[in-house]
Amino acid sequence: MPDPLFGLPIRLRSKWIFNCYIVGNPDTGITLVDPGLPSVTAEALDCLTATFGPDTSPDTMLCTHAHPDHLGGMPHVLSQHRPTVLLPSRCRSYLAGEQPRGSRVDNLIRFLPVLAGQKFDLTAMREFAGAGRQIGFGGPKMLTIPFEPDGFLDEAGTPDSLDGWQVIEAPGHTDDSTCLYHAASATLLSGDAVVTLDGRAWFNPEWVDTGLAAATEERLRSLKVEHLLPGHGLPIQAPDVWRTAMSFRDRPKGKGILARCSRRLGRWNY
Ligand SMILES: [Zn+2]
Repeated sequence: MPDPLFGLPIRLRSKWIFNCYIVGNPDTGITLVDPGLPSVTAEALDCLTATFGPDTSPDTMLCTHAHPDHLGGMPHVLSQHRPTVLLPSRCRSYLAGEQPRGSRVDNLIRFLPVLAGQKFDLTAMREFAGAGRQIGFGGPKMLTIPFEPDGFLDEAGTPDSLDGWQVIEAPGHTDDSTCLYHAASATLLSGDAVVTLDGRAWFNPEWVDTGLAAATEERLRSLKVEHLLPGHGLPIQAPDVWRTAMSFRDRPKGKGILARCSRRLGRWNY
């Protein structure tokens, strides 16, 4: 039976760098956060039944932003269950016809070292490439989803199955980036606003807007965080995860080929 992360009522299923979190239990309500790759989502559903019993269903599922690797598994869940589906607030405008902004190629390249931080998985790579053409935004220019969301994640509200959690809009990586913060346990589900590399938090160096990325970094650093559960990279538990955090402006220091490529081709000239 998979253990709760850091003793929290949260479980992680992941392949390579792609993370899906199961938050809560049948008494409090169960939320799937970032059911991204279909095979990871299937494992998350298996984890639910193995942990809580064969009839367990998620009450809510949501994504921290509408990139394919964060919502690509939602149709798989909806083929078996009927949770409440919530998308980030900005997705209202995307569904009304606004074209989401994408990263410049040199910003994407800066993210490369994160790819080398965990064991490569071919299935994950294939699913990421496949989902990227069909669902979410980034591959498709507009937000494309084969279902109707039930609602949106606004700072003013919290889903019923996430009692005690706060929705934090965290634009920068994308305009719709959203985090979930649980003050009582100092836990941040950061989505891609913050990733991790070599045991350190890294405010995402891949962004669509420098000013928004800076404002989000400042706001998140003002939160007390002892458990960082990122969209990509391994979760971190530390007395203060920001003490060793890299800014979105920091270059990675590694000697690996991807770190060197990201320094050279990402240019870091802003
Ligand atoms: Zn992502």
